[in-house]
Amino acid sequence: MADIDPAADRLASRAPAPRLTAIIVGAGMSGLLAAIRLKREGIHSFVVLEKAEDVGGTWLHNRYPGASCDIPSHLYSYSFRPKPDWSRMFAMQPEILDYFRDTAAEEGLRAHIALRTEVSAARFEEAQGLWHVEAKDGRRWDARFLVIATGQLNKPRVPDIPGRRDFAGIQFHSAEWNEAANVEGKNVVAVGTGASAVQFVPPVADQAKRLTVIQRSPNWLVPRPDREFSRRTKAAFGLLPPLRLLLRGYIYLTNELNFHAMRHPDGIIARVMERRARKHLEEQVPDPELRRQLTPDYPIGCKRILIASDYYPALMRDNVDLESDAVARVHQTGVELESGKRIPAEIIIWGTGFDTASFVAPIEVTGRNGQRLVEVWRDGAQGYKGTLVSGFPNMAVLYGPNTNLGHNSIIFMAERQMDYVMKIIRHVLGKDLRFVDVREEVEDRWNEALQRRLGRTVWAAGCDSWYKHDGKIINNWSSSTLRFAWELRSFDERRFEVAGWPLPAGQELTA
Ligand code: NAP
Repeated sequence: MADIDPAADRLASRAPAPRLTAIIVGAGMSGLLAAIRLKREGIHSFVVLEKAEDVGGTWLHNRYPGASCDIPSHLYSYSFRPKPDWSRMFAMQPEILDYFRDTAAEEGLRAHIALRTEVSAARFEEAQGLWHVEAKDGRRWDARFLVIATGQLNKPRVPDIPGRRDFAGIQFHSAEWNEAANVEGKNVVAVGTGASAVQFVPPVADQAKRLTVIQRSPNWLVPRPDREFSRRTKAAFGLLPPLRLLLRGYIYLTNELNFHAMRHPDGIIARVMERRARKHLEEQVPDPELRRQLTPDYPIGCKRILIASDYYPALMRDNVDLESDAVARVHQTGVELESGKRIPAEIIIWGTGFDTASFVAPIEVTGRNGQRLVEVWRDGAQGYKGTLVSGFPNMAVLYGPNTNLGHNSIIFMAERQMDYVMKIIRHVLGKDLRFVDVREEVEDRWNEALQRRLGRTVWAAGCDSWYKHDGKIINNWSSSTLRFAWELRSFDERRFEVAGWPLPAGQELTA
C-alpha cells in the first residue's frame, strides 16, 4: 500500500504554502467522499490531510475481533460506488476497510492524500478569504474552503477509574486493540456493553480462560439477519444492477421506518421492535435471572439498538460471567466492583465508547474576528444543517453536530452534506465571491426548531446516552433521513452573509 504519496508530500512541503481550492481534514468515509465529489466536479486543487498511516477512518482503527457494520453493506457503501460482490449481508471490518482503500486508489485520490499528517490548527483570514491550516509538524497549507471530516467517534474514552494506572496486566480500549495481547487462556475483564462490546465479546469468550463482562446498563438487542452471499447471488448483483438497487432500496426503507420508533416511543413500530427484542432474549436466554439482568428499563431506541445473534449465547458459556455493576477501582491484579467483589484479570478491555462532545477538537479552529470554535461550542456543539457554523465561512463539518443516526446509514447523510457543500463551493467560485457565512440568527432559529423536534424523540427522556451532553442532544439528527435530504436540497444565499472582493484602491464606487 502507498505510504505518503510523493505528489501530496511535494504539495505539503512547498514554501510559501500554495493556495488550494480546498483542504479536507480526515480520510475516512466522509473525507474520501468529499475528495471524490471535488474531483468528479473538476476540482483537482485540494489536499486530504490524514493523521493515521492509512485511509479508512473508523474502519482502520476499529480492528477488534468481530468488528463489523450493523448496516447491511449494500446500503453502507457510496451510492455512486456500488460493490456487487459484498461477501455477506453485514460485511466484516477488513472487507469494509478494503472497500475504502480501493475507493481511494481507484478514484485517483492517493496523489492528494498526505498520511501521518495531524492537523493542529486552522485559521480563517477574512481579508484574503483563505483558510490557513497547520499540521503538528509545522507544515502549512492555504485554501479557499475547509472541509473537516474527522467524525464523531474518533476519540476513545477510558473512564478515569481510581487505580487504573496501577494495573499490572495489559489494558486497552476496543478502538485501540492490542494485537500483541493474546487473550487465549487468560482471565479477561471487558467493561461496557455497547455496539463494540457485543461484537468483540463472542470471539474473546471463545479464547479466554474466563471472561467477565461488566455491564452498567443493559441494551435492547435484536437478531442480526446476516448471511453469506453465494457466488451466484454476487454474479446476479453484478449483472443485474436493478436487483442490487432493489435490495439497497429495501434496506434503506426498512431502516427508515425504524425512525418512527424513535419519534413515537409508544407507537406501533416501537412496540413491534421491543417485542422482537424481548422474543430474541427469551429464545436465547432460558435463565430468568440472566434475562432480568439483560432487560433494559428504558424505551427501545433511547440508546443505540444493538444487533447481534451471538452475544447472548456467549454470555451463557461456562467460562463467561456477567456482572451488572459498576467498576469502583482497579487493582494491580484485577478490578473491584461497587459491591466490593474483586475479579482477577490479566487483560482489561475497555469497551467504554468515545468522547463524542468535542467534535473537531483538539484541532484549534479560529474563524472571523478571532472566534475560537471551542469557545463557540462551549455549551454544546451546533451547526446550521449539521454542516456549517456561523462565523466560520467557507467551512463545512461532515458528520457534524446533529447528523448522527440511530436507525440508518450515515453514508446517506454524508452524501447529502456533500451535495450541499458542492452547491456552496460552486456558488462562491462561480460568482467569484470571497466567502459566504451563514447568519448567526439563521443558525440559531434552525437549531431552536431542531431542538424542539428532538425534544419529542425517545432520546430526550428516559435514558442517558452518548447522544446527549449536559442534557442537550448534540449528536443526533431529529427526523427522518428524507427530511435531512429535503433540508439540504438547496443553497439559499439570503440566509448568508456574502462577501465579495474589495475593489482595488482608487476604484471605489462613487454615488
Ligand atoms: P458506547 O455505545 O458508548 O458504549 C459504551 C459502553 O461502556 C456502555 O455500555 C456504557 O454503559 C459503558 N461505560 C461507559 N463508561 C463506563 C464506566 N465508567 N463504567 C462502566 N461502564 C461504562 O460505545 P461503543 O460500544 O464503542 O459504540 C459507540 C458507537 O459506535 C455506537 O453507538 C455506534 O454508533 C458505533 N458503533 C457501531 C458499530 C456497528 O456498526 N456495528 C460497532 C461499534 C460501534 P452505559 O450504557 O451505562 O453508559
